[in-house]
Amino acid sequence: MKWNSKILNLKAYQPGKSIEEVKAAFHLDEIHKLASNENPYGYSPKVKDLLDKEGSSTFSYYPDGYSTQLRKEAAEFLGVKPTQLIFSNGTDELLHIISNALLEPGKNTVMANPTFSQYKHNAILEGAEIREVPLINGEHDLDGMLTQINQDTAIVWVCSPNNPTGVYINDEKLQSFLKKVPKDVLVVLDEAYYEYVCADDYYDARVLIQQYPNLIVTRTFSKIYGLASFRIGYGIASEEIIQALEPVRQPFNTNVLAQKVASVALSDQSFVQNCRKLNHEELERFYQFCEKENLNYYPSQGNFILIDFAHDGDEVFSFLLSKGYIVRSGKALGFPTSVRVTIGTKEQNDGVMDAMLEFLKQASMIN
Ligand SMILES: *Cc1c(COP(=O)(O)O)cnc(C)c1O
Repeated sequence: MKWNSKILNLKAYQPGKSIEEVKAAFHLDEIHKLASNENPYGYSPKVKDLLDKEGSSTFSYYPDGYSTQLRKEAAEFLGVKPTQLIFSNGTDELLHIISNALLEPGKNTVMANPTFSQYKHNAILEGAEIREVPLINGEHDLDGMLTQINQDTAIVWVCSPNNPTGVYINDEKLQSFLKKVPKDVLVVLDEAYYEYVCADDYYDARVLIQQYPNLIVTRTFSKIYGLASFRIGYGIASEEIIQALEPVRQPFNTNVLAQKVASVALSDQSFVQNCRKLNHEELERFYQFCEKENLNYYPSQGNFILIDFAHDGDEVFSFLLSKGYIVRSGKALGFPTSVRVTIGTKEQNDGVMDAMLEFLKQASMIN
């Protein structure tokens, strides 16, 4: 076959282990997946009501490819024009659309390292040069990133809060960066965890979009809204950027149920606020645990925490797995001695912290 040479060294995305797989392998009855930053509280009861009713709908028609109703409601909620939004099959697809629209051989793209893996993956697919700038203390080195921008730079990726560290960028730092980025370079601000942020000096992306016409903000219904399996995300930007991206989007990229559940989920902000509050409280308990056990961690504004065990991350991962907790080993995430844990419910967190303690005891006996 005459495969595109760019894809030859690419690996397919390795999904986290499924609950069923782990149950079978370890003969455990109860498994807790704390690996992919999903919402442990599920989704709004309003979504459940809708799904109970929708069973009898007609699914033989194509969905509204423009997501008109959801667009109208999201625009109102966000205080932007409907024409400033683009909807996608998860944010993942939007990142792909953006890369497809701007990157090609001869151009380059600037990003942090480690950060969300898909920025790099998409850049390889498009044959663009990748310029990675190491994080400093888990935070984007925005000045370092600026020095990497030249006349061939098409996209700069900024992930805040950053996955996998959970560290955010404050308003002042971000604005001083945005002022210096050339106006013909697109800045993608990935806010997958925006709704979890509690920091006072966080920026308001909607204000930034008015001020910086070369900025697109991406958000998702997969995380705090608890709708990961429906695959729906969106971008907010100037009308000019949205117009340029629209032809790259597949005509029916979001499905009819995803559009409906997203609308309903958006209308239940008390569910969102409750999840945010619980997440914040539970994060604090993880901090206390880490302080007590002398483990390094990054303060997180997301629904996950990266904890350094000073041991091979795969070993920590395997141990926790055998106790029924699926987390992510830091090895594949650029932090070889850490694991990334999604903040679960209080019970799940008690359980995973107990399992971590067991690991630490066992590890100290070996050493
Ligand atoms: C989870 C995540 C996404 C992808 O979200 P989907 O909408 O489910 O595709 C994008 N960016 C970051 C940083 C994420 O952690």
